[in-house]
Amino acid sequence: MKVDYQHTLAREVSLSGVGLHTGCETTVTIAPAPANAGFSFVLADGSRIAATPEAVRSTVRCTTLASSTAEVNTVEHILASLVGMDVDNAQIRIDAEEIPIMDGSALPFARGIAAAGLREQRVPRRVMSLRSPYWHREGDKLLVCLPADHFKINFFVAFPEPVGNQFLETPPITPDYFLHEIAPNRTFGFRHEVEALYSQGLALGGSLDNAVVIDRDDYMGPLRFPDEIVRHKVLDLIGDFALLGMYPRCEVIALKSGHALHVAAARELRMPLAAAAGAR
Ligand SMILES: [Zn+2]
Repeated sequence: MKVDYQHTLAREVSLSGVGLHTGCETTVTIAPAPANAGFSFVLADGSRIAATPEAVRSTVRCTTLASSTAEVNTVEHILASLVGMDVDNAQIRIDAEEIPIMDGSALPFARGIAAAGLREQRVPRRVMSLRSPYWHREGDKLLVCLPADHFKINFFVAFPEPVGNQFLETPPITPDYFLHEIAPNRTFGFRHEVEALYSQGLALGGSLDNAVVIDRDDYMGPLRFPDEIVRHKVLDLIGDFALLGMYPRCEVIALKSGHALHVAAARELRMPLAAAAGAR
């Protein structure tokens, strides 16, 4: 049987842009890391935060990871890019407490990783395999993970018009599919929410250049895909599953779920007994 080995970047890559919340210019560097290191964030003062579900402090508006002394905001799209581009180990260095929002999508990160190239590490990949179905439900939100020999996502969202009901069934996710079909999809918000954030001095780096803004019955700008909203939800789910610290070899069925439910699922799926028992 063919062995899947771990990969890291062949060289480091840096990107700069504004932070969504502070509006300040920040630079992030994605650097190679040793086998079994997983993903971690290193701040300017040297403090390190490992990307695990236990490090999640908040999933309101963005995913924030924290240690006892440091925190880093808006980690979800860069983490999605690492998993989507088949990276197992990377150190992410930042000079601020926020990953730049870039164009609101994962495309700049995914392109940067593709340009850097990958280096195979002669250690077998850490993989999350299920023996039985796992599911987690909160109200009308549901996440089901089925045993599979690949990572595949089926996502359904239901929003008011103009978004409406959207459904995406991915093929088994490859770097090529992620780069072209998932990474370009931008984060989104409703106009009244965005205006409320501005009035509280939040989302200062947000603009029509880095988000799909949805007005009462139309989008305030052109879309990259007609179903950009559900595609972005798939992107966010991949980023949340990066917290597993293992490549998720499963088929996911997600109904109206979001960061909070995905992170709760990642926490449970890391506990082998809970996963085997199909907790809840
Ligand atoms: Zn997102």
